[in-house]
Amino acid sequence: MEKRAIAIIGTGYVGLVTAVSLAELGHNVICVDIDKNKLNLLMAGKSPIYEPGLETLLVQNLKSGRLSFTWNHRQAIQNADIIYLAVGTPSLQDGSVDLSYLMEAAKEISLSAHDEIVVVTKSTVPVGTSEIVKKFIEKHAVQPINVHVVSNPEFLREGQALQDTFHADRIVIGADDDVGAKILMELYEPLHLNIIRTDLRSAELIKYASNAFLATKISFINEIANICERLNANIEDVARGMGSDSRIGTQFLKAGIGYGGSCFPKDTNALMQIAGNLSHQFELLEAVIHVNNRQQSLLFEKAKTRFAKLKHLKIALLGLSFKPNTDDLRESPALPLANKLIQDGAKVIAFDPVAYEKGRKLLPDEVKVTDDIRHALQEADLAFIVTDWDVIKDFPLALYEKLMKRPVIFDGRNCFALSEVSQYAIEYHSIGRQSIY
Ligand code: NAD
Repeated sequence: MEKRAIAIIGTGYVGLVTAVSLAELGHNVICVDIDKNKLNLLMAGKSPIYEPGLETLLVQNLKSGRLSFTWNHRQAIQNADIIYLAVGTPSLQDGSVDLSYLMEAAKEISLSAHDEIVVVTKSTVPVGTSEIVKKFIEKHAVQPINVHVVSNPEFLREGQALQDTFHADRIVIGADDDVGAKILMELYEPLHLNIIRTDLRSAELIKYASNAFLATKISFINEIANICERLNANIEDVARGMGSDSRIGTQFLKAGIGYGGSCFPKDTNALMQIAGNLSHQFELLEAVIHVNNRQQSLLFEKAKTRFAKLKHLKIALLGLSFKPNTDDLRESPALPLANKLIQDGAKVIAFDPVAYEKGRKLLPDEVKVTDDIRHALQEADLAFIVTDWDVIKDFPLALYEKLMKRPVIFDGRNCFALSEVSQYAIEYHSIGRQSIY
């Protein structure tokens, strides 16, 4: 295996995981970021994000000397033969993609790169962006340069990012010339994974199409859950019955209060925009997004129906991150829920085992935040379960019953079996299943 000199621009969830993984494979990796606080932590061997196993690999590879960090783009880029773009591509107000971070990074490449380089777009970008990046670098390059651009979209799931990197279902490599594609295929070869080689544009679209499809599965099962509630059927049984058909599959058939996170909302909106720009109305995806927005308010609406007034009630909000095993709060359904509860005059105490500090910064001042579930539940009139962290699922129902003033639970993640809950004096409302009074 040829040892490569790799630069990674952007050390967020994707950039950092890519960096430690490539260093682990034996390459020399240097990462650059504009966030100096993040870099200080990384240089000290501390992961700025919560991701199981990441810090261990970070420390090992720092020690081996294969992994390093800098705030200086030139230092990162000038000796690299492969440069990854892993900066954020957030949504703009109208749902389209903000490419300003990506183009800033491209500018840095044009200032410092030279000779033959492979530029890898890991960030999720609208179709055609990788071509734009290539042309931009070539046009503004300060030194003679030959750019091969490759789209290599990322499919990791936060909370299991390393597992997903080393055991990915597939690696997509999209390029319109073979040179860059060949170098990347060799880079990933030791992982022995299924590599899908496409043209540049198809690779970019695969990422959006995949996320839109998964979001569709979630909105679909949530709609079936809404029908289950009205029919007194049980969504868990329906999903199990559907999912055992191998054409359907069991994954992403878990009903709940809708998807969140840094990818699905952003990428579905972006695909809507991409289609709209091509004068195609993507009606199916429009409905998926609409259903998800409605689903996120469901627990709140149920509580309003049940209590009429939430004013002065003490409410435990259990889970802040958009899913378990991550501290990522981007587009988490917990945040709008907390805001609505505060607007209604409720006294909210939010619990998260990991994301409590990040949550404190994002929630309204009126919300108390704790990393102690007992503290949150103590004397609460009702509890909302937003994230299915193990610590919430495994917390004994006997203690929910004992600690709460009035044990009423609105469970947005169906954490408990109905047969189990019915053994306690707990009022329990979940998604797509009968309520227990
Ligand atoms: P992030 O916000 O966690 O990290 C982005 C990093 O880029 C930040 O640390 C930021 O400071 C840095 N940055 C911005 N401009 C820079 C510049 N000019 N030079 C150097 N650093 C710069 O984002 P993320 O979650 O890692 O996502 C990155 C991309 O990967 C996005 O396009 C996202 O859609 C995509 N993606 C994310 C996930 C995920 O689960 N988070 C999964 C697949 C794909």
